Amino acid sequence: MARDVLVLVEHSEGKVESLTSQLLAIGSRLAKEMKVELVAAAIGHRMENVVEALQGKGIDRILVVDDPGLALAGGEVQAHVFAEIGKQVEPRLVLVGYSLVGMELTPAIASKLRMNALTNCVNIELRDGVITVTRPLFDGTIHAQIALEENATAVVALQKGPAILTAPLAKKAVVQSITIDVNSIPSRSRVLEITEEPKGDVDLGKAEIIVAVGRGIGDQEKIHFTAELAEALGGTLACSRPVVDVGWLPRERQVGASGKSVAPKVYVACGISGAIQHLTGMRDSKRIIAINKDPNAPIFQVAHIGVVGDLFEIVPALTKAAQEAQTR
Ligand SMILES: Cc1cc2nc3c(=O)[nH]c(=O)nc-3n(C[C@H](O)[C@H](O)[C@H](O)COP(=O)(O)OP(=O)(O)OC[C@H]3O[C@@H](n4cnc5c(N)ncnc54)[C@H](O)[C@@H]3O)c2cc1C
Repeated sequence: MARDVLVLVEHSEGKVESLTSQLLAIGSRLAKEMKVELVAAAIGHRMENVVEALQGKGIDRILVVDDPGLALAGGEVQAHVFAEIGKQVEPRLVLVGYSLVGMELTPAIASKLRMNALTNCVNIELRDGVITVTRPLFDGTIHAQIALEENATAVVALQKGPAILTAPLAKKAVVQSITIDVNSIPSRSRVLEITEEPKGDVDLGKAEIIVAVGRGIGDQEKIHFTAELAEALGGTLACSRPVVDVGWLPRERQVGASGKSVAPKVYVACGISGAIQHLTGMRDSKRIIAINKDPNAPIFQVAHIGVVGDLFEIVPALTKAAQEAQTR
């Protein structure tokens, strides 16, 4: 009978991703409440540092597949290997990060293990003994609560949330090595190389004032309005993901679940709706000022000061006021 909680580990350069640490903190709490084991599955090549980094996180067993064939493995091979581990563990729950990797692997793993796939979730908890998952709908304006049937199994992909600080746990995980013939796994594509994005000179993490621009700006030619406000306030220009996706600003300026997490003294959101993936990266800002023409935009739920109106009127007026204040 499927029982344990299995967490799929994401790592790079020997370090465990913060999203995985978040999953392990959630998984450790769930496993305790469900009175089952927390198992971590880590696959890749030269895994010593990853295994070391996984200790002290409340895991009972770490299952490792360490194979040179996994150094540059594509999603098809990774899904196959994780599913093989899943077949051995027979878990009740598989927790995956809703990262780009997790988005690719979750449906494949769920289908191979014949489990439910619940993606884009923001919470999972045991409510009166029932595993209940929370999932945002309509850009986070409403949330669905989904209860798992008593014996149902599921692969649950969870979004990056606020970091969960947990003290290191003394429990030492048992490490088990699993051998899988990686080279014989059929694969229709292969990863040629992994290259790092060139490092820019923007460090959003250190910025005390951030002016962030969203899709509401409508056109790359108009981004200068927000850049001028950032300059007048002595701040840094940032943006939401669609602005990066269309190539208006580089990825190093993106705030959110798949971008940077920031907590400046002041965060001015211009033409940003406030989707959960954006809020995840900026909701810890000390003072949030939102400018949006839609009074129902979710950004106003986290804003300390909300301005309902056209950013093309408000942003230049703020810039002028900031410039005048400097010359006074
Ligand atoms: C796995 C995953 C990861 C993601 N990661 C991120 C991430 O890291 N960061 C991120 O930002 N998003 C991320 N997203 C995308 C996210 O879901 C939203 O689609 C995105 O944040 C929306 O960006 P936006 O608010 O700029 O655009 P929209 O949602 O289109 O909002 C534009 C807003 O501008 C307002 N507006 C329009 N014109 C004006 C005007 N003239 N004056 C004032 N207001 C105006 C509108 O009312 C609207 O509220 C992710 C999504 C997924 C699925």
